[in-house]
Amino acid sequence: MKQIGIVCFGILSLCLFYGFGMGRPPAIFNNKDIHASAVEDSPFFLVISDIHLNTCRKVTDVDGDTDPSSWNITKTELAKLLDKKPRFVLFTGDMPAHHADVKAECNCDKHPVDHFRRRDYDTVLQNFYALLKGRDIPFFFVPGNNDVATGDYGKFTENNKNVFSDVKNMYPTPTLNTGVSKTHYPYIDSLNSEDCYYSVCIASNLRLIVLNSIILCKSEANTYSQDDGFKELDWMKTELQKARNKKQSVYIAMHIPPGEGGNNSKKNPGKALWKKSLVNGFLSSTDTYNDLIKGIFYGHIHTDECRFLYNKGGDSIKSVAFSCPAITSYKHGNNPGFKMMDYDKATNSITDVITYYRDIDIPTGGWQQYSYSQIFGCQNGVGFINALMTKANKDLTKISGPEHAIFFLKRNAGKNPEDYPEPEEMKVIWR
Ligand SMILES: [Zn+2]
Ligand SMILES: [Zn+2]
Repeated sequence: MKQIGIVCFGILSLCLFYGFGMGRPPAIFNNKDIHASAVEDSPFFLVISDIHLNTCRKVTDVDGDTDPSSWNITKTELAKLLDKKPRFVLFTGDMPAHHADVKAECNCDKHPVDHFRRRDYDTVLQNFYALLKGRDIPFFFVPGNNDVATGDYGKFTENNKNVFSDVKNMYPTPTLNTGVSKTHYPYIDSLNSEDCYYSVCIASNLRLIVLNSIILCKSEANTYSQDDGFKELDWMKTELQKARNKKQSVYIAMHIPPGEGGNNSKKNPGKALWKKSLVNGFLSSTDTYNDLIKGIFYGHIHTDECRFLYNKGGDSIKSVAFSCPAITSYKHGNNPGFKMMDYDKATNSITDVITYYRDIDIPTGGWQQYSYSQIFGCQNGVGFINALMTKANKDLTKISGPEHAIFFLKRNAGKNPEDYPEPEEMKVIWR
């Protein structure tokens, strides 16, 4: 009887805690607080992006979204790397299949497209939860344009529903396993739960700022206003100032990067990804707080590249942003890939970037890797970013105007190399 009483009390507490309206994201975010001591000494972290899992898909297709068996192969490789205890896992967005791939592969006469997409992102969240549970590794989610309960590029929360509240298991935070209690690291220091942007103190000397870049982007389907964008950028500035006051280094993560190109730079050259005034606001802050910012990470582009961000005057490169290639091959014909970031534990500076990719035609795996230090012929270690920027300053044509970012691109052994020529040297693809 006593046990039943305890169980009832537990269920009642959970209901009170999460709110009886089960469709609503909980107002208070608090989940298991991970103690970071297990990973504090790790010299690397992992970035994964654009899985676009299609749970209906039966075959692995180089131009299709990720089928379950291909995703299993990736999970097996990830599990091996997770056993080496990365400091954290950063997921830079886009969990479910593209609408077109759902329509092609699923029985949409029986259920609407969103029914299948929901199953896709629920599966991805459950898989990450299972992979990280017991390994004590923090996970940070960055919202992608496909990570909305309905549509694409929509508001993160619509009709009180979002991807964390709208699945069969409730995941109360966008980090899955990090809470808000400030008694130990990492903890969520600031959270806009409705629009899914937040800041995490990973350690006393390191802060991660996660943006919802859908708010900032130029897509016609973006229903956020420009004022919503300025509100987010003002919040980012506040977080950067907090980092300055606390003498913290900063990593910034987002799904869609600033700059141009679309996620198919050949088809959309010169297409701006963000609203111009918001790019300028962002670059103004990254310039002002440049000394703190040790890494900028993004997804959405599906390819392996990095972008150099200029100062306000557009006359010198101040920071580098790194993409994470996609797990899906959809429309880009790329092999599934993800990244390991090596960093210096004392300064949090990125010391090398290693891209893992697998030949999608090899059903058992075929994982390979390359490092940026090798490919671009610059030293790894604490001088890595400076060596990369020096090379860029020397090799790239200067551009004017702070609304521009430059990128160069190295495909992860793509299947359509003629679409994306691999440059010997860094090269301006667009400006
Ligand atoms: Zn994507
Ligand atoms: Zn995307």
